[in-house]
Amino acid sequence: MYNNEPIFLQPVLQERIWGGQKLRTEYDYEIPSDKTGEAWVISAHPHGPSKIMNGALAGQTLADAWYEHKEIFNKAEDEQGEYPLLVKILDAADDLSVQVHPDDEFARTVENVPYGKTECWYVLSAEEGAELVLGHNAKTQEEFDQMIDRGEWDKLLRGVKVKAGDFVYVPSGTIHAIGKGIVILETQQSSDITYRLYDYDRTDVAGNKRELHLERSTQVTTIPHQDAPVEQMEKVNGDLIEKKLVEEQYFSVYHWQLNGQATCEMTADFLQVSVVEGRAALMIDGKSFDLKKGTHLILPHSVTTYSLEGNAEFIVSHE
Ligand code: ZN
Repeated sequence: MYNNEPIFLQPVLQERIWGGQKLRTEYDYEIPSDKTGEAWVISAHPHGPSKIMNGALAGQTLADAWYEHKEIFNKAEDEQGEYPLLVKILDAADDLSVQVHPDDEFARTVENVPYGKTECWYVLSAEEGAELVLGHNAKTQEEFDQMIDRGEWDKLLRGVKVKAGDFVYVPSGTIHAIGKGIVILETQQSSDITYRLYDYDRTDVAGNKRELHLERSTQVTTIPHQDAPVEQMEKVNGDLIEKKLVEEQYFSVYHWQLNGQATCEMTADFLQVSVVEGRAALMIDGKSFDLKKGTHLILPHSVTTYSLEGNAEFIVSHE
């Protein structure tokens, strides 16, 4: 049986043409180049699995732990399937391409992967006036196709201004793009299937445009766009303010603000915890663990009670 220590994870850094340096300057990660776009911070996905940094499982990946120690996640030993969630930090030094993701059924039947991709974003920082794309303005399939044929992207795409602390829920089938100057923490289904609809007609140094996936994008896009209402709730526990950002089919995500001390009970099968600001101590059975901005961990099911002390902000999630 796995003991009740938290599982600290090593981020996997990914270069992207739209990436920047904030994953080093803000989060102190060793980035591979000045165009580093993504840190996969809690990941069991084969395209970038996180390594465990401490305890009995040190050196193994989160995927190894998922397959071999089901008790950590409160799953039956014969439970099938892949680790369900993926948490990333994204630094958009430039606009990302406009894209859309399939749902589970499409992902399974067309792409032969276990999960589609519903995602959500907590905005960690945003430059003045920063904007992202969320949804579109076409009322019918015909209108949608027509606007694309005519290249009427400004008319089709919906822009939304954001600032630090905003939360954006992006169900599969929603057209979206993170804009220049925005850093987000993304909680999503563990999937890497992306259909690119539009890339602002940008070309690389050789004059080539990036590949688009117009047909697939059109197949999976929800038309007309539906705004997904999110109901947020706040709970105060000691000196901890727990704000529920979203609770839906695939995940629940919370923002925790700690200013002092709080004792917490585990209410989920396991918890994904990311420290996005400040510093705190995590106490479990008389043992203390140091948490700081940029730390990511999983609290296993065996942890029934734990306490936190310090001044910090967290994004916490579970299935
Ligand atoms: Zn996406």
